[in-house]
Amino acid sequence: MIKTANLLQKLYQTLNEYINSSSLEDKLLERELLIYIGGEYCPKSEAKVSVYDHGLLYGDGVFEGIRAYDGVVFRLKEHIDRLYRSASVIMLKIPLTKEAMMKAVLETLRRNKLRDAYIRLLVTRGVGDLGLDPRKCQNPTVVIITDVIRLHSGGAKEKGIKAMLVWVKRDPVDATSHEVKSLNYMNSILAKIEANIAGMDEAICLDKNGHISEGVAENVFIVKKGKIITPPTSTGALVGITRDVAMNLAKKLNYTAVESNITPTDLFTADEAFFTGTAAEIIPVVEVNRRVIGDGKPGPITRRLMQEFEKVVRDPKEGVLIYQ
Ligand code: PMP
Repeated sequence: MIKTANLLQKLYQTLNEYINSSSLEDKLLERELLIYIGGEYCPKSEAKVSVYDHGLLYGDGVFEGIRAYDGVVFRLKEHIDRLYRSASVIMLKIPLTKEAMMKAVLETLRRNKLRDAYIRLLVTRGVGDLGLDPRKCQNPTVVIITDVIRLHSGGAKEKGIKAMLVWVKRDPVDATSHEVKSLNYMNSILAKIEANIAGMDEAICLDKNGHISEGVAENVFIVKKGKIITPPTSTGALVGITRDVAMNLAKKLNYTAVESNITPTDLFTADEAFFTGTAAEIIPVVEVNRRVIGDGKPGPITRRLMQEFEKVVRDPKEGVLIYQ
């Protein structure tokens, strides 16, 4: 009896030592992602912001979605530039230089031992009082999350997705325009809800003149008679980085690519249509409001652009290496 008790105690002791050993702790931490918050790297379960942060109370802040492919953070500089441009429009002073911000992004990826990731970088107005006056918020909060993102089920890229023009108008350029990548995404969320209700994969918003603006987090492109067309940002669309990549690839492949207004009829009668976005990448749209686009399959120009895109995102010259 005493022998068994001793044995059990010894076993308990060994187990405790094992659990408390730093190597095991490291292993557990390795599995829990670290999030950068205001200069600290916190385990995901402890990464929290104040309920008085105006990012939460008012959607007051700016953000970027960035991707890393095989050790390359694609177009990191361009994303950082856009973040600071957005911040300057809403008069938010980011407490880090662009260089320090880039270093923090890379360091967060390194601490999480990631080579492929979706990076969500946000800067909120910071903690204030319950009124909305941003002057009360003295210290903006910087958060960097490096994780994964999945927008559509597998096979969506090969088959294409179904989109829907919704009643929610894109916020105009003289309102909370998506030209500024702010934390205020209610416009997109309302649009997404409509697509969800209708059982469609994505929503497309029109501007107040009835022209196509963009998706909920994607720019829209159509292909007509070999010409690639995307709406101008005067429709309230974001100056998408993937949009720019797609335009450049199109030109490299000797296609004509232009910015021009697109009407719903242009979209319904397009030969091809696709979305671009950091999270979405390039994804074919094969149906809009039940009108079949082209022959209902991803078109040849879209597929060609998708192939080139797969190559360019892994090119170290197109981004910043995580591990030098
Ligand atoms: N429009 C909106 C509203 C978005 O949120 C996004 C995603 N950032 C895009 C377009 C696509 O932009 P990008 O290619 O820079 O990710």
